[in-house]
Amino acid sequence: MPLYVELALPVRVDTLFTYQLSSDTPIVAGTRLLVPFNNKQLVGIALACKTTIDFDPKKVKFVTKILDDSPILDESMLKLATWLSNYYHYRLGECLSFMLPKALRSDQNAFKSTLAVTTLTEKGRLVHPNQFNKKPKQQNWLIALNEHTHISSAQLKTLELSTSSRTTLIKQGLLQKEDLPNKVLFNTATTPEPFELNDEQQSVLDLIDLNAGFECHLIFGVTGSGKTEVFLQLIQKCLDQNKQTLILVPEISLIEQTFKRLKARFSTTFALLHSGLNDTQRKDGWLDAKSGEAKIILGTRSSVFCSMPDLGLIIVDEEHDGAYKQNDTLRYHGRDVAIVRAQKQNIPVLLASATPSLESLHNALSKRFTLHQLTKRAANAQMPFIEMVNLKKHEPVDGISEPLHLRIQQHLEHNKQVLLFLNRRGFAPTLMCTTCGWQVVCHQCDARLTLHQNRLMCHHCHHTQPIIHSCQSCGQHSLKPIGNGTVRSEMYLNKHFPNSNIIRLDKDSTQGKDTLKTQLEVIATGEPCIIIGTQMLAKGHHFDQVTLVGVLDCDEGLFSADFKGEERTLQLLTQVAGRSGRAKDLGEVLIQTYHPTHPLFQAVEHNQYAHYAAQLLSLRQEMLLPPYSFSALIQADHQFANIAENTLKQLKQIALPPGVDCIGPMPAYMAKLANRYRFHLVLKSQQRSMLHHAIELLQQPLKKQSKVR
Ligand code: ADP
Ligand code: ZN
Ligand code: ZN
Repeated sequence: MPLYVELALPVRVDTLFTYQLSSDTPIVAGTRLLVPFNNKQLVGIALACKTTIDFDPKKVKFVTKILDDSPILDESMLKLATWLSNYYHYRLGECLSFMLPKALRSDQNAFKSTLAVTTLTEKGRLVHPNQFNKKPKQQNWLIALNEHTHISSAQLKTLELSTSSRTTLIKQGLLQKEDLPNKVLFNTATTPEPFELNDEQQSVLDLIDLNAGFECHLIFGVTGSGKTEVFLQLIQKCLDQNKQTLILVPEISLIEQTFKRLKARFSTTFALLHSGLNDTQRKDGWLDAKSGEAKIILGTRSSVFCSMPDLGLIIVDEEHDGAYKQNDTLRYHGRDVAIVRAQKQNIPVLLASATPSLESLHNALSKRFTLHQLTKRAANAQMPFIEMVNLKKHEPVDGISEPLHLRIQQHLEHNKQVLLFLNRRGFAPTLMCTTCGWQVVCHQCDARLTLHQNRLMCHHCHHTQPIIHSCQSCGQHSLKPIGNGTVRSEMYLNKHFPNSNIIRLDKDSTQGKDTLKTQLEVIATGEPCIIIGTQMLAKGHHFDQVTLVGVLDCDEGLFSADFKGEERTLQLLTQVAGRSGRAKDLGEVLIQTYHPTHPLFQAVEHNQYAHYAAQLLSLRQEMLLPPYSFSALIQADHQFANIAENTLKQLKQIALPPGVDCIGPMPAYMAKLANRYRFHLVLKSQQRSMLHHAIELLQQPLKKQSKVR
């Protein structure tokens, strides 16, 4: 009797496919299969075997190849994929494919990569190097291989070994070439002793029970309060039980710092998973996690999809960070998936932040999460002193006011580090005509072009063009850079503090592969310097020697059209301010603003994150915004505005379930982007199930057309 397998393929068709197996051995669900599809060979994931089908068997094609001996995704991962597909309304085949490292989305085998090495043969082991006294080059090989068990090509140079004498020795049957699987990353701790926890830290540790099943813990601890120390000690408990821990950080730039602390503390095996690795390294790390060999898995958001048989704990550090959200293809939120995963595997998950997201705070207040608070800085460091500079009184030059200038000078004189924050890269955000007010805009987007040192650049579509000198509206030669970006302020600093080391950290200055790492290392030496940068600076980095933080401009975030604008600004400022005075010396923060009386600043100034967040939450409640309602956004994008808009108008005709509001269509905030026009429909409901139902209804007609994205 023929045996069929039902599988999911990473294609844009939302259905499962049936193929025939050439043997009668059933396939376990989760195994990768290579199958013919539209004149191509695709990798699919087997879901079930069956002996009967309800269509013409002659139409069924055969599986080309079974790629895995055992399933690459186990049952819990298959369940997670189904959840992803339902919750994010994304095709199952693509969800499954997405969960695999890139190398395994192809027909590559699921074995670890190997290292080509040279070793001694049995015969070679019996030879004493002295027997080769007359042939020093061959003797070198024998000495080296008696010292090291194997030698890779990378070691040839340092050990001064010749390849031609190797060939000779291989011919004599003394040496051989071998391929060894790359070993799992093992680390030996340098400072394994934990800190003695303070009372607040200790009570958090005591309240998290690794063996009590699923529970979501939120550690809300001010910057520098010792959150990391708490989770290090929790990881130790997990290791003691021989379980795996998954630690998520929002950005690749934070991997290094967290890894450093983990390495200092733990003698164990690790897997790192992030976009800085090549496909092979990533596959190796993934396989080490899957085999259970790696005990600590550290990665960015997509590592939440990694298979781990002995997973005992998930930690989501800086849980509020927007980088956990993926904004294309499968639009998942890494933190939320981590929680669902912990729930499905019945293990605890720990979210940590000094500025928890409003969603998480809401979940804590409604007792879905367990809230733990750390209210003071560990290691006796004090919270920094925060002050506003009213820019209406102190007009800034190139972004820097006189009070801030003086303070920078003082801190440098005391051999301290200064950190300046400005969330705008380039020289100036716009070039404007002082005669008629015309501004240089991108021809592909509804956006102004940013002035860089020698180009005009669109930060939205990456279009660049040479700098122009005359106004395209009135023809006058009166174009002036307006406002300032990091480069302009950096030039100011170079001019006024010529003897200081000035380090700029933004997307432009950290392009090179290891540039950011090198820059962070320079800062870590503690030598006096001025660091100026964008939000990269706000992301959980530890700058121990920084005693002054200056915020050059953050007014834009106060009046944002996005309902999350204020929340983000509050988080950003609290985080940036938290970079100051993390060690013994008292820190200071100066915030420059044209709106010094804005209540958000008062909250930052008095360390009232929780208080202000509660106010923002009650506003959301009043306006029935998330997390007090559930919403979904449908974006249509096309090269003609009317086509994008009409698609949504037609969708709006569809009758929706009760209690679901449909708002729009309306143009997106930046309607034109990279020569395409974007329109939005927003669905809102008090009931999640109704919202899901509505999305399904609206998705039906969209599946049939392909003109509009
Ligand atoms: P967070 O993760 O909340 O920013 P960290 O865990 O990085 O805080 O701790 C801030 C600093 O305080 C670090 O230098 C850390 O080594 C130190 N620290 C943390 N806990 C203690 C403790 N119980 N005793 C002494 N120092 C501590
Ligand atoms: Zn003009
Ligand atoms: Zn553009």
